[in-house]
Amino acid sequence: MKKTSKIYVAGHRGLVGTAICRNLATDGFENIITASHSELDLCSQLAVDDFFAKHQPEYIFLAAAKVGGIMANSSKPVDFLVDNLRIELNIITAAHKYKCKKILFLGSSCIYPKLTKQPITEDALLSGSLEPTNEWYAIAKIAGIKLCQAYRQQFELNAISCMPTNLYGPNDNFDLTSSHVLPALMRKIHEAKINNKKEVVVWGTGNPLREFLHVDDLAQACLFLMKEYNSPEIINIGTGSDLSIKELAELIKNIIGFDGNLVFDTDKPDGTPRKVLDVSKINNLGWTAKIPFREGIKSTYKWFLENN
Ligand code: GDP
Repeated sequence: MKKTSKIYVAGHRGLVGTAICRNLATDGFENIITASHSELDLCSQLAVDDFFAKHQPEYIFLAAAKVGGIMANSSKPVDFLVDNLRIELNIITAAHKYKCKKILFLGSSCIYPKLTKQPITEDALLSGSLEPTNEWYAIAKIAGIKLCQAYRQQFELNAISCMPTNLYGPNDNFDLTSSHVLPALMRKIHEAKINNKKEVVVWGTGNPLREFLHVDDLAQACLFLMKEYNSPEIINIGTGSDLSIKELAELIKNIIGFDGNLVFDTDKPDGTPRKVLDVSKINNLGWTAKIPFREGIKSTYKWFLENN
């Protein structure tokens, strides 16, 4: 990928897409193309085909997806399955048709079975049943991986797939009905503090273990893989360390400066008990996450205060 290469970032307004654009710009890439939802409906095959015919991108970061936290995922199965299948199929098919040089597809750690050996190695894919709270999204993402592998095998399209762990950072979704846990707790704890509340409700038991990666680390990993990785095999991106939801809530409380109590609403689902990725494959290739968790949460909170 040259500094002048034509690079299309699909999903450039989301958490991941904004970070990829930011990091591409910082690294001197000057020919980045994007299209907002009103300019290009990625669920429309015709619109995507027209866009590719017109722009002929050389490299593609496929970061567009319908995403959401545990409640959104389990309550809107059609949206998560159909929209994601359409987006992937339209873009990957067009990447082949218009002879793009390389495409990076972003999957998710939720493609792995609910109860699998931890930390999760890449070979756990399709070795067991999925976590029911996000199986619709997971099935669509698994189809995306298989599309990449199929296009590589049959047509030699240089399509690679990476599996990021739970992400956080600037431009995250802070809407409490659809967000993931980290931005949700940040917002709830912030609002409890400014409204002098005595407690904050945390969904589930607080026991599930999760790993979190700052989205700027993810973006650097994506650039690294676009330059260095050319294999049909999926590759994990994460930190390799996890903590409990209770520990996460305590950490955010400490950073925000809220000294009320945490109340656990066990009517809400816990989801998968533990999700931490084995990242030895990408580490051995020469990439590791750099942003310390506490620093990442502090800068994300600063962004939240300035933007919400
Ligand atoms: P998951 O990693 O796919 O399970 O998705 P989430 O990030 O939505 O949830 C992770 C864990 O955090 C689950 O055990 C949730 O029950 C828990 N959790 C605690 N409080 C919240 C909250 O306010 N919002 C969300 N989304 N999850 C929460």
